[in-house]
Amino acid sequence: MFYDRAKIYVKAGSGGNGVVSFRKEKFVPRGGPNGGNGGRGGNVILYVDPGLNTLYHLQHQVHHRAERGAHGGGANRTGASGADLRIPVPPGTVVRNAETGAVVADLVYPGQEVIVARGGRGGRGNAAFKTARNTAPRIAEKGEPGEELWLELELKLVADVGIIGVPNAGKSTLLSRVSAARPKIADYPFTTVEPMLGVAEIDHRQIVLVDIPGLLEGAHEGVGLGLEFLRHIERCRVLIHLLNGASPDPIGDFEAINQELTLFNPTLADKPQIVALNKMDLPDARALWPAVEEAIRRYGLPVFAISAVTGEGVTELLRQVQATLDQLPPEEIAEPLPVLTPEPDPKAFWIDQLEEGVWRVEGAEIEKVARMTNWDYYEAVLRFQRVLNALGIRQALIEAGVEEGDVVRIGDVELVWGYENAFGE
Ligand code: GDP
Ligand code: MG
Repeated sequence: MFYDRAKIYVKAGSGGNGVVSFRKEKFVPRGGPNGGNGGRGGNVILYVDPGLNTLYHLQHQVHHRAERGAHGGGANRTGASGADLRIPVPPGTVVRNAETGAVVADLVYPGQEVIVARGGRGGRGNAAFKTARNTAPRIAEKGEPGEELWLELELKLVADVGIIGVPNAGKSTLLSRVSAARPKIADYPFTTVEPMLGVAEIDHRQIVLVDIPGLLEGAHEGVGLGLEFLRHIERCRVLIHLLNGASPDPIGDFEAINQELTLFNPTLADKPQIVALNKMDLPDARALWPAVEEAIRRYGLPVFAISAVTGEGVTELLRQVQATLDQLPPEEIAEPLPVLTPEPDPKAFWIDQLEEGVWRVEGAEIEKVARMTNWDYYEAVLRFQRVLNALGIRQALIEAGVEEGDVVRIGDVELVWGYENAFGE
């Protein structure tokens, strides 16, 4: 099978910070807290765009960042949310976490979408911390960082268009002429002939083409080309039938190839064909053109005069191919894989003693709270300590043997254990 792959980095927007602010009004000596919350950061979303059929657009665009949330303001103003970033992918794209290899999503249906990186929550302003006991809190949270990760995208490429024709018609030349990209092709076990796949761009859309070499050489008997490969070309929806303009009898060639298709598989012979007489840069080919045009039209097929070498007529040919593809009913789409990602318990934590007097606490929840704590505010530090108690981390550290003066690392934050400061009772 042919695969198209892309590796991208996605980063959701961080939440805006909450602020500490107090009402200032004439004749009101001590106004209440009115610091607003930060806005939510934008998500990064992948969605299925049925107009795409490759990952080509992501080969050169690797980093994708959504907007961060705005900070809160005084007068209880909440910061604006960051805009989501939406990335289109073709139907059939499997998305994996690049680090773990776990499947994040299997995007199949048009309209299907998945949030691959969540925007951070906005930090709460001091108005949110007002309680009966504390009517003037000097505490505000920082915004939660947006999620970030590397993703691996993989698409099983299905060639829309097969290029058929006698040997030397110019199939390989045409494919390299129109190719904007050559996807990596996996080893093909049943053939020594390397199948060539190319992606052509026409009017900002992509067409996947496959060069079908040597169909004449006993292919229907399973020799020459591998059956596996021939099955692959059965999935093509349109065939370009290339005629050799340097052949003495292009119409005879045309009929022989179609005969071969019928022998191999009648459904292949039934596919829409667009015929092109190649090598129009040669006088011989030009001389053949009127007769070839007339004969092919009698078959009721569109026919073009092209030169794969000079490019003459090639754009018109591709436009016709695209128009024919657009007229065909959409392909039946396979059921997507259900994606079951076990959620780790965010409240779980681990304590390690790194060395004498140095401890590390790991855990999704506590690390998040640590990142969101604004250490400039004493009350925020006290609240952090209450979270340590509530999660059982304080007790666990004591049981592990933490002593006054020891360093405790939580995420990027380094704290000193002591009974006089924030860790005290
Ligand atoms: P394939 O066997 O169908 O893949 O044919 P190739 O692409 O290998 O081409 C066969 C020969 O025809 C090569 O020598 C090409 O250079 C030549 N050829 C292909 N297209 C053209 C064309 O448009 N004009 C001319 N003059 N020669 C061509
Ligand atoms: Mg060839």
